[in-house]
Amino acid sequence: MFIREELIPSAEEILARVPLPEELKKIKQERDKLASEVIRGETDKILLIVGPCSAHESKPVLDYVERLGKLNDRVKDKIVIVPRIYTNKPRTKGVGYKGMFTQPDPRKREDILKGILTIRRLHIDAIGASGLSSADEMLYPENYAYMEDLLTYIAIGARSSENQMHRLVASGISLPVGIKNPMSGSVPVLINSIYAAQSGGQVFKYQNWQVRTTGNELAHAVLRGAVDGYGNDIPNFHYETVMKVVEGYSKTGLKNPAIIIDTNHSNSGKQYKQQIRIVEEVLNNRLYDKDFKKYVKGFMIESFIEEGCQKEDVVYGKSITDPCLGWEDTQRLILDIADKL
Ligand code: PEP
Ligand code: MN
Repeated sequence: MFIREELIPSAEEILARVPLPEELKKIKQERDKLASEVIRGETDKILLIVGPCSAHESKPVLDYVERLGKLNDRVKDKIVIVPRIYTNKPRTKGVGYKGMFTQPDPRKREDILKGILTIRRLHIDAIGASGLSSADEMLYPENYAYMEDLLTYIAIGARSSENQMHRLVASGISLPVGIKNPMSGSVPVLINSIYAAQSGGQVFKYQNWQVRTTGNELAHAVLRGAVDGYGNDIPNFHYETVMKVVEGYSKTGLKNPAIIIDTNHSNSGKQYKQQIRIVEEVLNNRLYDKDFKKYVKGFMIESFIEEGCQKEDVVYGKSITDPCLGWEDTQRLILDIADKL
């Protein structure tokens, strides 16, 4: 049984209620262009999606992205930074806290309308604070409509990449959509997801409309490592496994073949400090092999103000989901990446 709690206004009404100011629209357009150029291979810059696993409170996130904005000035010739502001993120087991979207105040009960408005303000304020527009995870495809004017990068999680609605909605987006490999690590499944997202002419129901999509040439792979049947992590950032994805791309003739390496999750085994070593190994492989370099176009790094994670939100700027690099390490790592490119 469904108990109706509150009618949520349409996406059009919500966008009109909390609009993106004109001067920030320009920044967002410029950032979209820069990020898309990386995926299209029109630049040697790399894409760096970096930020906390989940954004559970606005203040520390804005503090964090402001720092990223300053750092961006020092590396922007080499790196396109996209702050990671994941607002829909539940705990790993899917029950309890379901992210800012559902529960804008983790200490109070669910309030989705307030959640949507809070998230819009957070993404808008983040552009204002950093001069950068953000990435969010499309956890619930139909919610994308509430954020579609604010994001520069959209991620599809490992547990969602096999899902039909995620693939269909991705095919209607004209921005980089990073599709994670499924938890099994299956390369054919990952390639199929990208194929579906790149395919146009798909007709389905979205936001009370029958829509037809034009296909998304910017849909690409994000390698996050796999998990075997016994719960063991199997990294897939190493040269050999990345080249299997390159092979998959070559066989299917997909557009703008691109790979982003997620340095945390099953690649680091959530040993967050290992992200530094993983970045270094991937950068070395890029130097070693031109083909590898052509395909591997960036990183997704989990980072926040304080390193590690905590069970409850006690320490300011510390993750309440996956453990993150702290700010000092992050800054050093980003400067180091820029040096090595
Ligand atoms: C994440 O990016 O925080 C995440 C949980 O990703 P995945 O879908 O790869 O597990
Ligand atoms: Mn995470």
